[in-house]
Formats: sequence, C-alpha cells, structure tokens
Amino acid sequence: MDIIVENLTKTYGSQKAVDDISFRVKTGEVLGFLGPNGAGKTTTMKAITTFLVPESGNISIGNFSTSRDPEEVKKHIGYLPENNPLYTEMPVIDYLAYTAELYGIPKDKVRERILEMVKVCGLEGEKHKNIGELSKGYQQRVGLAQALIHDPEVLILDEPTSGLDPNQIIEIRELIKRIGKEKTVILSSHILAEVEATCDRIMIINKGKIVADGTSNDLRKGAQGKEILQITVEDGDKNEVFNSLKKLECVELVDFIDGKENSYEVQSTQNKSSRREIFKLCVDKGWTLTEMAVFETKLEDVFRELTMN
Ligand code: ATP
Repeated sequence: MDIIVENLTKTYGSQKAVDDISFRVKTGEVLGFLGPNGAGKTTTMKAITTFLVPESGNISIGNFSTSRDPEEVKKHIGYLPENNPLYTEMPVIDYLAYTAELYGIPKDKVRERILEMVKVCGLEGEKHKNIGELSKGYQQRVGLAQALIHDPEVLILDEPTSGLDPNQIIEIRELIKRIGKEKTVILSSHILAEVEATCDRIMIINKGKIVADGTSNDLRKGAQGKEILQITVEDGDKNEVFNSLKKLECVELVDFIDGKENSYEVQSTQNKSSRREIFKLCVDKGWTLTEMAVFETKLEDVFRELTMN
C-alpha cells in the first residue's frame, strides 16, 4: 500500500510546523525521515496516522483517504508514537490482547497473533510483567509489538530505537528491514547511521519543508557534486607532483594532506573524474601511485549543510 502525501500543511499559531509538503512512499520501501528538533517529523507522521487533522492537503493510504476514511486507514497502519505511551499497570500479554481487540482482530486469531508478536519482538521472558516494570528498551519492544499486532501494510515508527541498548538496536533494525520488504515503512530517527543502515530512501525535512529526498548515495553526491580523491604518490619530487597534478585539465584543486607524507587531495572539475589521468601521469613520470581513494561526503555533513539555517 502506497502512502501519498499531497500539499500537507499544519500551522500552530503563526508557525508552520509543516509547510506544503508532498511525497510518496511505495510498497516495499523503508523511508528514513530526518530533521532537526522541531522540523515537523512528528507532525507529518501524526497526520498520516490520522491522529492530527491538517489545515490543508490530502493524505492517502492505498485507496483510503485520512480525512474521508480514517477508520479504514487505522486498520492498515501500525504506529509507534514518539515517547511510546503505554499502560504501565497492565501486564504485557493483557496489553497486547487489548490492542488486538481495538484493531478488531477476530477473537480466534488473537492468541496466535500475541504469541507471534512476543516471539518477533523478543518479549518471551517479560510477557507476564507489568509494562511499568520493564526496562525502557523492553517497553519500546512492546510499543513495536502493538504497532505490528494487526499485521498492517503500513508502518509509521517515530524514533523506534530510542532507549534501546546496542544489541537491541541491531535486532530491531534487522526486524524493520525484514518487515520493510513487504510493507511500506516510514521511520524517523536522529541517528544518521541507523537511517543509512535501515532505509532504502532518506528524506530530510527542515522548518516544515522537504530539503532532500533520495538514497544516501544520491544525497551525498548531490552535496558533493565534484569528485574528491586522496592519493599517495611516491618516488617523485613533491612540488613537481603537485604542479603536474594541477596542470591536468580535469583537475580543479590540489592540496597537500597534512600529516600524511607524499599525499594529496585532488578535486576534479564538475562531473569529471581524474582517476585515469592521474594514473597515466604517474606511469609517464615513473612515479609510484600507492593509494587512491574517493573521499566520501558523510551524511552528517549533508544534514548539517541542509539544516543549519
Ligand atoms: P523532534 O525531532 O524534536 O521530535 P519534530 O521534527 O518531530 O521534532 P514536530 O514535533 O513535528 O517536530 O514539531 C514541529 C513544530 O511544531 C515545532 O516547532 C513544535 O514546537 C510545533 N508543535 C508541535 N506540536 C505542537 C502543539 N501541539 N502546539 C503547538 N506547537 C506545536
């Protein structure tokens, strides 16, 4: 089931929390939703899950509209809200039974679904404890279990790994990846490495506007634009190497790399690669090229550049 968001706007007082955004997420896609605090991520997710009514815009989940068919939309969506509000006095099993009933799971299927969720979310040892007695990570797992219990086609997860320990983070990421192959998933996170590891596509939002949308490679390339190589050339005179590199037509900038003997950073002109030319130059001059690596722009740098103002 696709998620289609068209011209979504939500204003609080005079502030536009979400400002005329449109995007589509396809079945089988895991979309990572990034943005600084207050960017509008939770507001967008709440609108998709019908927990918030926007002033304008249309949202569809498959053929169902959040404004016209909110009850149908809810049946097809699993939602893990930020801060994961849970009934702390209830034992895990009872809570899952309660949510199963809310989602209208047929009575004869409830037990089977609860057992499945306990297994998938690793709650076997905790299932009889009251939710309030669980560690934060296990509470997060209960939140995931309730989001998945009706086997929804669409999953909206607001910071799903917050509060988890490193082992649990890896398990939950793998779970999301596995689930994401068949479902449509949007997850928000502040951990960029997590989004890179889990998501097929990344969308960055800043001040209510989408400022980037693509794979992590697209985003890094878009920010970089120009190829940057780090090379090490031995057996040549440093200044001659430097000047010869600079003279190559495809090269825009050359710099020595501090603290690394015989190493240079070479930036190519727009949309050009200098790799072959550098290799040829070294062969012609009798120098030895011992290292050539493409310098990758980090997603952190892209994020900072797009959200600093
Ligand atoms: P975070 O990463 O901190 O969770 P976010 O990207 O999820 O942030 P939102 O929670 O969507 O951001 O908030 C977007 C903006 O809307 C913020 O400036 C916030 O203060 C404002 N906002 C959100 N909910 C309300 C509300 N109920 N009343 C007033 N303003 C609100």
